[in-house]
Amino acid sequence: MTTIHPGELAVPAVRTLAPYVPGKPISELERELGISNIVKLASNENPFGPSPLALRALQDALQDVWLYPDGSGHELKKALAAILGVGTEQLTLGNGSNDVLVLLAEAFLRPQDEAVYSQYCFAVYPIAVQATGARRIEVPAYPRSAVMPLGHDLDAMLRAITPRTRLVFIANPNNPTGTWVDAGRLKEFIAAVPRTALVVLDEAYFEYARPQGCEDGVEWLEEFPNLVVVRTFSKAYGLAGVRVGYAVSHPEVADILNRVRQPFNVSSVALAGAEAALRDPDHVTRSVAETLAQRDVLRAGLESLGIDVIPSAGNFLLAYFGPNAMDVFDGLLRRGVIVRPVANYGLSEYLRITVGTADQNQRVLEALAAILGRSRP
Ligand SMILES: *Cc1c(COP(=O)(O)O)cnc(C)c1O
Repeated sequence: MTTIHPGELAVPAVRTLAPYVPGKPISELERELGISNIVKLASNENPFGPSPLALRALQDALQDVWLYPDGSGHELKKALAAILGVGTEQLTLGNGSNDVLVLLAEAFLRPQDEAVYSQYCFAVYPIAVQATGARRIEVPAYPRSAVMPLGHDLDAMLRAITPRTRLVFIANPNNPTGTWVDAGRLKEFIAAVPRTALVVLDEAYFEYARPQGCEDGVEWLEEFPNLVVVRTFSKAYGLAGVRVGYAVSHPEVADILNRVRQPFNVSSVALAGAEAALRDPDHVTRSVAETLAQRDVLRAGLESLGIDVIPSAGNFLLAYFGPNAMDVFDGLLRRGVIVRPVANYGLSEYLRITVGTADQNQRVLEALAAILGRSRP
């Protein structure tokens, strides 16, 4: 009898796909070590959590979970449109912004097309592109010695765009590097991209990056019909677990995305939580300010331990540990601290550390001092 491998029936591009590697969940480390009081600084979540208004709305929404959600997301879109100064017909809601990124790839890429992104880009782009069978064009990033080490090389990205290019992905700031491109330079780049390619500008860290002079891509939408701005409630809004993100685009692009998305891709609970979160902008402002202050503390602490840190406009830092990075990662785990290895990004000598609360940042710094055998000044 021949052995049957039903997995081999999958389309080739999917069969060879390397899956996304998430941060280690707290519950998993608890099971492995039998300890509690674990600090997770591995997935760029906001340790200050969502607004109390959002928490209340999430709980209230549970009453109606026997009903399907409003598939059009009318209330959330209305609130977003008012805040962003766009029309509701320019919005596409997603089950996290990850969903929207996948929808863009599904709707705009054929196997003979190309998608351009930078080396060290967010891991979801290559996965979403590969699943369509399209060609992945990864453009080398700047070297570690550059002014913006490991950052996007926009000139090289522009040169990589051909008539076959349909999507160009840029996260600003980028994850996992934290690096960013200057708003003026980015605008010139978008203007130079041929209108036969969509520019997907991923602003997952918008709220953290804006005070640092990064762009508000939504302001450029009228000028560039091929621009798609992608945002999320997972980071500064503290709602990573409920899964809501969105794209703002030309209405024709939104119309296309809304045709391919699942009719109920955002849950009723998520819709309610996100909409309520928008009613408490002060909560976001406060937690962003605290995170940015703590980012300075964490950076200074790492540097005082002799650890090199890449510049960051996000709520996380990419730190250089050299060939022993995985030993450091394991040592941190044993001390109940979860950070993020980034070897799958080709950055095996680095670890990515999310900026936590003051207490969490002290925990990681003390654990690192113990592991590296250096005393903290
Ligand atoms: C975290 C992150 C996202 C957001 O993912 P969600 O699916 O919205 O949780 C998108 N892009 C980048 C670059 C990110 O780091």
